Amino acid sequence: MTGSGFGGAGGLAAHGSLGDPASVDDPGGPLLPRYGEATLAEVGPSLLGALGAPGEANTLGLPSARRACLLVIDGMGWDLLGRHQDVAPFLAGLAARGRWLSAGFPATTVTSLSSLGTGLPPGRHGLLGYQVRDPRTGRLLNGLHWDKAVDPVAWQPEATVFERAAAAGISAIRVAQGSFEHTGLSAAAMRGADYWPANTPGALVASTAEALSAQPRGFAMVYTGDLDGTGHACGSMSPAWRYQLAHADRLAEQVVGALPAGTLLVITADHGMVDVPASMRTDYDHVTELRAGVALLGGEPRARHVYAEPGAAADVLAAWRETLGAAAWTVSREQAIDENWFGPVDDRVMPRIGDVISAARGDSAVVATDAEPRESALIGMHGSLSPEDQRIPLLVREAD
Ligand SMILES: [Zn+2]
Repeated sequence: MTGSGFGGAGGLAAHGSLGDPASVDDPGGPLLPRYGEATLAEVGPSLLGALGAPGEANTLGLPSARRACLLVIDGMGWDLLGRHQDVAPFLAGLAARGRWLSAGFPATTVTSLSSLGTGLPPGRHGLLGYQVRDPRTGRLLNGLHWDKAVDPVAWQPEATVFERAAAAGISAIRVAQGSFEHTGLSAAAMRGADYWPANTPGALVASTAEALSAQPRGFAMVYTGDLDGTGHACGSMSPAWRYQLAHADRLAEQVVGALPAGTLLVITADHGMVDVPASMRTDYDHVTELRAGVALLGGEPRARHVYAEPGAAADVLAAWRETLGAAAWTVSREQAIDENWFGPVDDRVMPRIGDVISAARGDSAVVATDAEPRESALIGMHGSLSPEDQRIPLLVREAD
């Protein structure tokens, strides 16, 4: 562990420095999230604690305030921000006094927004990835597109951070693209907020300011997905990504300028990103060894849930280990639970986990070009336990 921010000195409690790979605990092993200490699951309760809600643990030590704005910039990894800090001076300035958190496993939007929205680790909220098997139907549930047959509240019954805020007399607000208001993911993991649809960056800033100004005590979660979309399509090392990061920087600066007095701003992300070259892609649909004994392939290219046919789990584990070798951390469901990949796992959640879990190492991925042509064509990917997937910024600007 080194100090926080760029140079390793000052700022919030130490947890690594921007652009400093030496601060990773173990470069050879997976970067396991420190649930209960420094992951996305601690952000919501810490914010509620900072707002004075009784019984909420401010584990992250956020400064107290009457109002709080949580700006989530999808796909803005700590390492990416460090590498491209020249085009994001505002965010880099906050990062110099900031620190990194772990996203949680898998490092993907469905799981991470659920950790933010519920204040719980993945093993307790149960949204365990982009695609997981529904044990009732045996079908894959895509967390972004959802399935009308799955009741979101039954899938994730715990109270959300927004419901907990409202119970404490704090107005709970979400500001994001209008099309996300009524998704299954919103109902499962972010229900209970007053939703302000905002479809452009300008509308996002104006709605956030207006929504919070009207409340003596309020909590707003503001979401932008443009940077992640750019990274998927163009890669996180592309000029397009850098231009988009500069827009995110301007957005953050505008949010600060527009917030009413007495508002704490926290900026974070849901995961980082890795550009996966063609040579590092293993195609599940065309590698027989990976398919033997597999009933369903879930997850996404850098974080796979593999569901085995009855009795085949051990053989599938052996075949995936043999085939992928050092390109992945491949473990059984039991090992993933024992090693706390998902945090503590509730009984209702356990059957959703793959019999085998495979997390990509380096810049590799397991694509499925027939079953998932769109996802398999992406350049930037995420999900795994590498520092580049896991580490995301926690940037704090105190209320004035
Ligand atoms: Zn993404």
